[in-house]
Amino acid sequence: MTNKFYMPTRVIIGDDCITKNSELFIFLGKKALIVTGAQSAKRNGSEKDVKTALESVGINYLVFDKVMSNPTIACVYEGATLAKENGVDFIIAIGGGSPMDAGKAIALLAAQDIEEENLFSGNYEKKVLPMAFVPTTAGTGSEVTQYSILTNDKAQTKTSIASDLLFPTVTFLDAKYTEQLAVTTTINTAIDALSHAVEGMLSVRASNVSDALAVASIRMIMNCVPDMLQALLAGSEVVFNLKQREQLLQASLMAGMVIAQTGTTVVHAMGYSLTYFKNIDHGRANGLLLGEYLKLVENVQPDLAGSILAAMNFSEADQFGELMNKLLGDKEEISSEEIKRYSKIAIQTKNIANSVVKPTEEELRTMYALSFVK
Ligand SMILES: [Zn+2]
Repeated sequence: MTNKFYMPTRVIIGDDCITKNSELFIFLGKKALIVTGAQSAKRNGSEKDVKTALESVGINYLVFDKVMSNPTIACVYEGATLAKENGVDFIIAIGGGSPMDAGKAIALLAAQDIEEENLFSGNYEKKVLPMAFVPTTAGTGSEVTQYSILTNDKAQTKTSIASDLLFPTVTFLDAKYTEQLAVTTTINTAIDALSHAVEGMLSVRASNVSDALAVASIRMIMNCVPDMLQALLAGSEVVFNLKQREQLLQASLMAGMVIAQTGTTVVHAMGYSLTYFKNIDHGRANGLLLGEYLKLVENVQPDLAGSILAAMNFSEADQFGELMNKLLGDKEEISSEEIKRYSKIAIQTKNIANSVVKPTEEELRTMYALSFVK
C-alpha cells in the first residue's frame, strides 16, 4: 500500500506568537476578513492580538462574528458574500472548530462561485483565499486539516468538504487563549483530539508516520487526565496550568495532522447523528462511543487495540471505557428508534470503509445501545 503525508500549513507555536510574527500576514494580502464566533475571541484576547498584529503592518480588516456552533451552509455563504463585496484578500479564522471550519468554506466560496448543490462535491477550481488560523480550543485540529465540517440539513447530518485547497496557510498556537475554557469544554475537546489520534490508528490509511504522531498525541492527552478528573471534582478550570494547556493544544495539533492523512472512522460517523439530532457536543459524542468501538476492535484485532491501549497505559479496552465514564458523567437517554435511525445513517458513510474494523449495521446498533448504558 502507498502512504502519503501532506501537511502544507506553516505552524507557529508560542507565547504572543501572533504579535511577534505579524509580518507573516503581509504575505497573505492587504485586506483580511476575521471569521469568528460572537464572544469567545473577544473574551480570551485572541481577536485583540490579531487586530494589533494587522494594524502594526498596515493591513485593513473587517469582522464576521456570526459563526454559530456547528455552522450552517447559509452561514458560510453569508460570510463569503461579505468577503466578496469588500474585496477581501485573505481569511483569518479565530476560535474552536466552528469558526475554523466556517473560515475554510468562506475562503473557498469567496474565491470561486460554487452552487450549494455542488458544495460537497470536491470538484472545485484551484482557487481559494489564503488563510491564517488561531485555534482557541484544543480539540478539533482543524488548523492543520483539509476538512470543513458543516451542518447539512438536507442530509440531516454533518458533512465535510474535503479538499487540499482547504489547508490553512499558517496557524498560530498560543495556549493562553485556552486558559479560561470551562472544565467540560476542556474535557470534551481533549476527548475529540484523543478520538482523532485513536481513529487515525484505526484507519486503513494509517502509516508509521501518522501512528507516531497519534501515539505522541495520545500520551500527551493522557498525561493531563489526572488533572481533568481533579478539575471535575473541584468544578474549576484553574486546575489546569499553562503548561498543560500547551500540551493539550499541541496534542490536538498532532491529532489533526493525523486525521489530515487518515480521515476519521466509525466513531465520528456515529457521533455526527448524536450531535445533529440530540445536540450532544461533538467531542462528548465521540467519547461516549469510543470505548465500545475499542472493545469491538479488541475482539477482532487484539494487536491493533493493544498498541493503542498501550499508549494510554491500559491493558484492556474496559479500562478506557471506565475512564470515559468518569470524564463524561451522567449520560443522555437514547431510544431504540433513535438507535435504528442513526445506525442506518452511519453505515452509509465513507468512514466505515475507512475503518480497519468495519462494523455491520447490527454492530452499530449494539454499540449505540451499550454506549448509553448508565
Ligand atoms: Zn472530531
